Amino acid sequence: MKVLHRRNGVAVLRFDKGEEFPGALADWCGKEEIRAAAVVAGIGMLSDVEIGRYDGMEYEKKTIGESSEILSLQGNVSVKEGKPFVHLHVSLADENLAAMGGHLFGGTVSMTIELVILELQGEFVRVPMGGTFWMLDTGQRNT
Ligand code: ZN
Repeated sequence: MKVLHRRNGVAVLRFDKGEEFPGALADWCGKEEIRAAAVVAGIGMLSDVEIGRYDGMEYEKKTIGESSEILSLQGNVSVKEGKPFVHLHVSLADENLAAMGGHLFGGTVSMTIELVILELQGEFVRVPMGGTFWMLDTGQRNT
């Protein structure tokens, strides 16, 4: 991963072939102590992608082995159990240019990913709500 631009809370990152994504992004956020961010745009290609759809109880998952074009990619970065947590949704195009998408669990960068992030002040945290659902909240306590 290479930082192409980082100024005034805006970062442009390039991920390279073979990197795990979004694991490499979570690693960078941990190293840079980024505790709240918005991932506003991403394009590139992913292979061996695991995506899913939350049915209200759990995720229905699907794996796409072939290299797929990222049509859109956005989400946020928070802290879950003390570690960076990246929540991303993705739209992908297959070899027929058919679109599919869902919650991104992970994949391998198959060409490159170009990502734009807004680094925010403060902290977002993931709060357990029962089952597999962790709600996004601020790190501020109301007590
Ligand atoms: Zn999601």
